[in-house]
Amino acid sequence: MLISLIVPCYNEEGSLPILYEALCNVRQSDPSADRYYEFIFVNDGSRDKTSEIIKEFAKNDKSVKYVFFSRNFGKEAAMYAGMEKAKGDYVAILDADMQDPPSLIPEMINDLDSGEYDIIAARRVTRKGEPKIRSFFARCFYKLINRMCDIEIADGARDFRLMKREVVDAILSVKERQRFSKGIFAWVGFRTKWVEHENVERAAGETKWSFWKLFKYAIDGIVAFTTAPLRIATYMGLFFAFAGFAYMLYYFIKAIISKIWTEVAGYPSLLCFILFIGGLMLMCLGIIGEYIGRIYIEAKARPIYITSEESKD
Ligand code: UDP
Ligand code: MG
Repeated sequence: MLISLIVPCYNEEGSLPILYEALCNVRQSDPSADRYYEFIFVNDGSRDKTSEIIKEFAKNDKSVKYVFFSRNFGKEAAMYAGMEKAKGDYVAILDADMQDPPSLIPEMINDLDSGEYDIIAARRVTRKGEPKIRSFFARCFYKLINRMCDIEIADGARDFRLMKREVVDAILSVKERQRFSKGIFAWVGFRTKWVEHENVERAAGETKWSFWKLFKYAIDGIVAFTTAPLRIATYMGLFFAFAGFAYMLYYFIKAIISKIWTEVAGYPSLLCFILFIGGLMLMCLGIIGEYIGRIYIEAKARPIYITSEESKD
């Protein structure tokens, strides 16, 4: 039986040696004689020594495979490429920075062996060491996306997971280009067991996620998995149409009763309404634009990543 461990790497020269040692430990301590491992490193267009380090590993270790991208395509693309390359019966994805503790892998393998589950996924129960404001917005995001979408995405769920072959094939069959893996993992279904762990700080280097990047990622996630925001325009349109009609009726009746048919005052209120409605209309156009933009990108059907170099099998 083959177990594939996929590691997406972007500027990880500091953490890779530590991670590789940990992975070798996992392999060595495996008591089963008929379990084999392959380590797949996906270099996502790093600008440091990551590719040299990976090649060094591969020179001395036959089970190290690699894919190098021609530029930075993002972690989503790197995970996809890794899964395409993986041949294992069980496939795991883990970060290069040791934030997904490799020491959990033996336990995850045992859990999958029991046959009760198809996916063993890791979840952070604490967000210790993370800026407070970032945790707050993360919590809001999970509440929002779970309320709007049919799929259930667990708060604190990481991309760290061990999956059976069937699950990997299902994920690979989802061909969309703007990938929101947390959603795709949930969308394909299967029986998932969650193992919980404390937040671990990075071994070296720094996170590639700025607040702004995370914000855009959150919007991507929502737009990728629900069309509910499009309905906002419909509901608001209905509301304002009714309000406008009621207002008109009110003035008409008032004019009949008072017999005053011309009323000029009310310039400020008029201006407020125009600005308010104008703003709402622009917002709705923006929401529609988000979806059209995505249709445009999907319609071009470009590949998810471009390989510049790959290990031979
Ligand atoms: N990563 C990647 N491409 C990117 C950004 C990140 O392959 O464009 C990899 C990175 O090398 C790491 C994992 O994705 O192995 C998680 O990234 P990071 O630790 O920066 O994210 P965080 O843990 O802070 O969410
Ligand atoms: Mg990290």
